[in-house]
Amino acid sequence: MKEANEPQETRVRALEIASLTRDFGEFHALKNISWSVDEGDWWGIIGPNGSGKSTLLHLLSGVDHPTSGNVLVYGKRVSSYGRKELSRLVAVLQQEGLPPVGYTVREVVEMGRFPHQDWFGREKVDKEKGMDPGIITDRVLERLDLTDLSDRSLDRLSGGQRQRVALAKVMVQEPQILLLDEPTTYLDLRYQLEFMELLAEWRRETGVTIISVLHDLNLTAQFCDDLLVLKDGMVEGLGASSELLTEERIRHVYGVEPVMLPHPDSGVPQLLLRRSARDVSGQGERLE
Ligand code: ADP
Ligand code: MG
Repeated sequence: MKEANEPQETRVRALEIASLTRDFGEFHALKNISWSVDEGDWWGIIGPNGSGKSTLLHLLSGVDHPTSGNVLVYGKRVSSYGRKELSRLVAVLQQEGLPPVGYTVREVVEMGRFPHQDWFGREKVDKEKGMDPGIITDRVLERLDLTDLSDRSLDRLSGGQRQRVALAKVMVQEPQILLLDEPTTYLDLRYQLEFMELLAEWRRETGVTIISVLHDLNLTAQFCDDLLVLKDGMVEGLGASSELLTEERIRHVYGVEPVMLPHPDSGVPQLLLRRSARDVSGQGERLE
């Protein structure tokens, strides 16, 4: 979290990219992206379908490689980390990020400890925190209200429960940076909000850095302090959500007619959509 009076040099840079590009053959999916993320920040990445959001997350997590430019994670090239070493730093949560069937909730959540285990699946007890790995899992299950479901098979869970399990798995992974790609897409309103609030609480407690791609701009504005706006693989805006979410930018990036209003609780920008002139006049004709 940003403290206004904190000197700039004391802040740790969790991620940094400069002049990053990713081409697929002749197609330029990402063009010249430069961006840095300080430890503890919560960024949202927004932009229309196909604007390059998932491609960018793949580069940040090291599963894909840029055509030019580098991704630095804590000052080191992402490609220079070993797989487990990187998994202790960066976790990824996707829309449907769980193995399909055949595992119980507890088994799946425990898989999150993999980066902390040796070849034999053993884990050293953390000397500093004195925390047994089993206790970490128990605590996270309890925290996410999954204790009673821990022996249940994944295929017998609702969408909201499955997404809580996916979150539990990345929480026991104890990463420094969490990347989320549209994690709330299949959740109803209540579970979307609950999911975001769990993330916010986790961030307050651990200082984890979060980068989330979310479809819902209103939730994005409520939770993400800063935004990277993408359109056609290019940066269309970078900075505080409250300043970037303007009617003009939304119109330009998404091609819709927005109305922005301040949220009555927090004052953050919230979006309403106007029906297009053609649609409304068509309706008028029918009504007359
Ligand atoms: P978003 O997540 O913003 O919807 P993506 O990052 O998935 O967009 O995709 C950006 C563009 O890159 C799209 O036009 C997509 O078709 C293209 N693209 C993504 N991955 C590949 C790939 N492996 N090969 C070819 N084109 C791809
Ligand atoms: Mg995507």
